[in-house]
Amino acid sequence: MSRILVVEDEFQIARFVELELTHEGYDVEKADNGRQGLEMAESGSFDLMILDIMLPELNGLEVLRRLRKSSDLPVIMLTARDSVPDKVSGLDMGANDYMTKPFAIEELLARVRSVMRNARERKEMEAEGKYESCGVIVDTARRTAAFGDTPIELTNREFELLVTLMQNRTIVLSRETLLEKVWGYNYVGETNIVDVYIRYLRSKIDDVYGINLISTVRGVGYVIK
Ligand code: CA
Repeated sequence: MSRILVVEDEFQIARFVELELTHEGYDVEKADNGRQGLEMAESGSFDLMILDIMLPELNGLEVLRRLRKSSDLPVIMLTARDSVPDKVSGLDMGANDYMTKPFAIEELLARVRSVMRNARERKEMEAEGKYESCGVIVDTARRTAAFGDTPIELTNREFELLVTLMQNRTIVLSRETLLEKVWGYNYVGETNIVDVYIRYLRSKIDDVYGINLISTVRGVGYVIK
């Protein structure tokens, strides 16, 4: 049974969502503040989180930012305001979808099904060693990369860097982490070699296909969403 975590401090909304999701056959747990929600989400025992933005202790955006350091748990964000900045920063930080309150429950259930289905398909692909984002697919068994049907020619190092980012999709990786994973623990050199190789990848992928595959997170590192 799929397990859903609902993080919402407004009791009536949380209870209503819980009842509807339970009726659909999901196993539901609730948290009514951001700190507790983050702890529960990090336990790794959920398949999806519904996360309100306006929460006591830690707001939803902060919960998401912290969660995404280590977890790709699918997240649907709720926002009370029809606030474009909230949506943008939520999606920017790796939310899978968002809903504006008040919402129709059928709409939320549809989003839940869709996000779950995507996560399941992704898991099946990943079991075969394939990773996808923005239409770019890497196949670690065949050691190939492609945009749709068009092969992307990469050097070994570029390929390893791309695979590392893809395997950690939605998680921001620091230059040091990338250096360690791609160049090896004993690599002695400047971390700006990472920036150089990110530029190579962008010139072969983002620039050619007009996509934004690799995002820079200022002062932190790089992420593929
Ligand atoms: Ca709230």
